[in-house]
Amino acid sequence: MKKRPVRAEVNEEEVQKQIKETLARLTTKGKSKGSRYRREKREAISQKHQEVVDQQELDKNILKVTEFVSVNELASMMSIPVTDIISTCMNLGLFVSINQRLDAETMALLADEFGFKVEFVSAELQEAVREEDDEEEDLKPRPPIVTVMGHVDHGKTKLLDYIRNTNVIAGEAGGITQHIGAYGVILEDGRQITFLDTPGHEAFTAMRARGAQITDIAIIVVAADDGVMPQTKEAINHASAAGVPIIFAINKIDKPTANPDKIKEALATMNYLVEDWGGKYQSQEISAKSGLNIDILLDKILLEAEMLELKANPDKPALGTVIESSLDKGRGFTATVLVKAGTLKIGDIMLAGSCFGHIKAMYNERGYKVDEVGPATPTLILGLNGAPQAGDKFNVMDSDREAKDIATKRAQLQREQGLRTQKHITLDEIGRRIAIGNFQELNIIVKGDVDGSVEALSDSLIKLSTPEIQLNIIHKAVGQISESDVLLAAASNAIIVGFQVRPSLSARKLAEKEEIDVRLYSIIYNAIEEIRSAMEGMLMPEVREEIVATLEIREIFKVTKVGTVAGCYVKEGKITRNTRVRIIRDGIVIYTGELGSLKRFKDDVKEVVGGYECGLNIHNFNDIKPGDIVEGYQEFEVKKTL
Ligand code: GDP
Repeated sequence: MKKRPVRAEVNEEEVQKQIKETLARLTTKGKSKGSRYRREKREAISQKHQEVVDQQELDKNILKVTEFVSVNELASMMSIPVTDIISTCMNLGLFVSINQRLDAETMALLADEFGFKVEFVSAELQEAVREEDDEEEDLKPRPPIVTVMGHVDHGKTKLLDYIRNTNVIAGEAGGITQHIGAYGVILEDGRQITFLDTPGHEAFTAMRARGAQITDIAIIVVAADDGVMPQTKEAINHASAAGVPIIFAINKIDKPTANPDKIKEALATMNYLVEDWGGKYQSQEISAKSGLNIDILLDKILLEAEMLELKANPDKPALGTVIESSLDKGRGFTATVLVKAGTLKIGDIMLAGSCFGHIKAMYNERGYKVDEVGPATPTLILGLNGAPQAGDKFNVMDSDREAKDIATKRAQLQREQGLRTQKHITLDEIGRRIAIGNFQELNIIVKGDVDGSVEALSDSLIKLSTPEIQLNIIHKAVGQISESDVLLAAASNAIIVGFQVRPSLSARKLAEKEEIDVRLYSIIYNAIEEIRSAMEGMLMPEVREEIVATLEIREIFKVTKVGTVAGCYVKEGKITRNTRVRIIRDGIVIYTGELGSLKRFKDDVKEVVGGYECGLNIHNFNDIKPGDIVEGYQEFEVKKTL
């Protein structure tokens, strides 16, 4: 009984072997084209297989971690005893405990020591939010998502306005684009384009930094009556860095001073050769004011989009990106989201960053209620329990509990990250500060009505830091200025910057009591300028001196009780009784001090001007000789600028 299965197995193996051998003989026998083709194919397959195996082998040595892995977890990931890690750390001069979480640098160093590589994944990736892969046939064309960037006042808002056929410039404080949002545009022929309205490229880059690359095409607006300006260059660099196709919109050609060729030339010198100059970059001369050629620009956008073959699956739970979020007086937290794939419906359970909630209502850019939105469409949603950050990803989840769990976990991670990223001062840093002498710090809390503005303002403020004054944003958030903000400011000696928000009554009172500086702005530019001048005020003024008089000592007299008195000749300038003086002998300063007296003949005088003789003595100093030079100087303070 026992032998039978064994024998059967042997038989089967032998049969297999024989089949293989026979096949092999068959294929190697005739060296026909077909057989060679098959062999090459087989080789190619086995090579591919080898590559996969190699890749797996490689993957095994890559540790995918968040920044928050403890010593213990790291050890188990590398399957080595935890004591090995601890002792390695000791060799590196680090004393760690088993449960201590390691920072990125140490982790990379340790992994390297044990022959591993570390790959950092965001906390998001680790909690596998289920995302379905799409079948090719489920993918449907979607509208392109376009960002308009360019130098201030070159006409971004005007262009978006014209395209939307509404006028937002009128309602904007100071006329600078401040709130980022998104707008869907449907052309007459039914084709669609989604425009992102960002306050310059900072928001674009801030989002990209969070891994939210949502732009398909970048329009760079350059005013033909101006030129390629610093922000134009930055915008171009940001778009190139993101690998996003660029279309140049040369604006304001209705102006008599417009010179589009000058712009094209400037672009060419930057190696961006436009199409009508034989290059690969599309460009269009437009007037955002009169609407001239904007239809052609839209056509060019759609042409570029066609080449990108943009597709998404609309038939699945929605996922996408948060464009902005804000706290609305009547409606609570609102968020503008851009659906990347799937369809978002009312009642969906949304997880967005560390916030979650049932979608209560959705509105399009014109304030009309909508019930569902598909890929590449922006919508304003109500129902989240907080304000997610611009660039946060969102997913539609199956259950409340799941959404809540992940949201809480993320919030916790964010808090920890916040604590961990607070810079601890290093010895080097202390040395640097001592070397500078008057190092100062300015702590700022930024509150705003919209996440995009909070981010943009914080980024711009941080950039104001200089070697002498470091600007720290210790807290930033969407919402009213609250008591806890004021308490935080009091505890860390910070000022509060409110952008389009006001303090609550209790916060205002507390701020008055604690003498916290609360500054309110409605124009980003003004906020930045004011903080800059405040920082200039913090800079120690530079003390400069000016030589106001040069005197030569001609003779000296010893006078009892007074000391040595010098008879001088004022060669240049004017010396007064209060002028500070230096005594210079053979080009060397031998004494710095004050005058004891200043006389002409027998009388005390207040001042003596050039060309006259005078008598003087130096307070507490008698070692003067004929031929010494008395130099009178004055100190004055010069305000330093950044
Ligand atoms: P942004 O800062 O880039 O958003 O620039 P805006 O859209 O606010 O435009 C700045 C100024 O330029 C506004 O006063 C616009 O009216 C004006 N402007 C924009 N486009 C044109 C144009 O095509 N022709 C003319 N003449 N003026 C324009």
